[in-house]
Formats: sequence, structure tokens, C-alpha cells
Amino acid sequence: MLEAKELRKQYPNKLALRGLNLQIEPGEVFCLLGQNGAGKSTTINLFLGFVQPTAGAAYINGVEVASNPLKIKQYLAYIPENVMLYAHLTGVENLALFSSLAGFRYSEKELLEYLANAGLPAEAVRRRVGTYSKGMRQKVGIAIAVAKHAKVLLLDEPTSGLDPKASNEFSELLRRLSQQGTAVLMATHDLFRAKEVGTRVGIMREGELVDVRPTATLNANE
Ligand code: ADP
Ligand code: ADP
Repeated sequence: MLEAKELRKQYPNKLALRGLNLQIEPGEVFCLLGQNGAGKSTTINLFLGFVQPTAGAAYINGVEVASNPLKIKQYLAYIPENVMLYAHLTGVENLALFSSLAGFRYSEKELLEYLANAGLPAEAVRRRVGTYSKGMRQKVGIAIAVAKHAKVLLLDEPTSGLDPKASNEFSELLRRLSQQGTAVLMATHDLFRAKEVGTRVGIMREGELVDVRPTATLNANE
């Protein structure tokens, strides 16, 4: 579903990724853990097609990202630290807009259902998104991912800045989404979150994946 083969990224002054190999299947939540500068965002951005690899390749659904940037967009949903929405539109309007860009047209009733399933309070759905909390915007992000039937979900520090309750809700949504068969890759520096939602954890250090393990094998005090 998601694959990196000898993926390498050299920025002008920095070798950010040193030949990454990785495979993530539907139903998996793979958490990339590591300190600032380890190469987590670079990895996510290579899967998104936002940056070009220096060598090697990233694949989504068997399609090479760098040479098919438009094709892979239909499989993908992306949730960064701050989900970008149209601030002057309501939650329902944003969902309708992003779904239709992905080729899905929904009735008002269906749109409301997606938002409710993502945990957005009913009172908020017709408010302008500019008035939403960060946690609410992240929920709209999840609703968009579900509504466009994304096969792959990429997240970059999605819970940073959320309070514990919003973080927990978000983790629960992620788990549900992955159980429906979405392959999830999440960059985080939060070991606690990674253990909570991840099925596997990969530790990155200076552009290398130095350890990959099923979350279940991590000790409580690690
Ligand atoms: P992380 O997400 O783990 O914090 P990044 O992938 O953002 O790490 O960055 C990895 C390294 O590459 C860092 O040293 C960072 O400064 C560098 N880097 C990231 N993006 C760029 C860029 N566009 N140009 C130059 N260097 C970059
Ligand atoms: P993160 O930790 O999520 O990678 P950063 O704040 O490090 O976030 O980076 C934010 C943006 O700046 C990213 O798009 C990244 O590619 C870019 N960036 C990071 N480091 C550098 C750098 N040394 N030179 C140029 N751009 C950089």
C-alpha cells in the first residue's frame, strides 16, 4: 500500500534521508518516531510528492509518487499539525468542497453524518471554520479522509498542540479509520501517542530508520 525503496533525500546542506526502506499495509498504523531533524517530515513529504527524492522511490498503491503526483492524490489524505481549511466556509461546506475535489458528491445528510462520525459537535457544523478549535479542525480533516475513501493517510505531528482529551479522541478516530483498511503513516515525537495508536513504531535518527518494532513489544517504561 505504502512503500519506500532506498529513499534518499539530499538538501543543499543536509542529507536528510539515507536510503529508507519501508512497507506499510492496509490496517497498519506506522508511527515514525524521532527527534527534530531526524527526517520524519521529509519522509512524509516524499510520500506526498511535496519534495523530490534524490534517489530511490516512494510508492502508493504501487504507483510511484514522484512521476505520478496527480494520480496518487486520489488515494491520499494528509493531516499536518494544522489542517488547512477554508476559514470563511462552514464545516459542512469545507467537507463538501474537499469531497467534490476528490470526485465524491454527497447529500447534506451524508455530509453531516461524516462530520458526526468524526466527532464534530452538531452545533459546530454550520459555523465558519475560522471559529473552530484546533481539535475541531483535525476532526474535519479526518472526516475528509473518510469521505474521500483515502486508502492512505499521512499525518505529521497531528496531535501536537491538542489537549489530552482532544488527543485521545483523535487517536480513537485514527484507530477506527485504520481498522477500516486504511494504511496510516504518522510522524510524531510523542512516544506515548505512538504506543497508543501505532501497530508498529519506527525510530528515526539522522535520516535512518534505526529500529522498527511492533508496538506490542515495547515495554511500558521504554
Ligand atoms: P523532522 O521532521 O524529523 O523534524 P525533517 O525531515 O523536517 O525532520 O528534517 C530533516 C533534516 O533536513 C533537518 O536537518 C532539516 O533542517 C533539513 N531540512 C528539511 N527540509 C529542508 C529544506 N527544505 N531545505 C534544507 N534542509 C531541510
Ligand atoms: P518539522 O519538524 O515538521 O519538519 P520544521 O519547522 O522543521 O517542521 O520545518 C518546517 C518547514 O521548513 C518544512 O517545510 C521543512 O521542509 C522546511 N525546513 C526545515 N529545515 C529547513 C532548512 N534547514 N532549510 C530550509 N528549509 C527547511
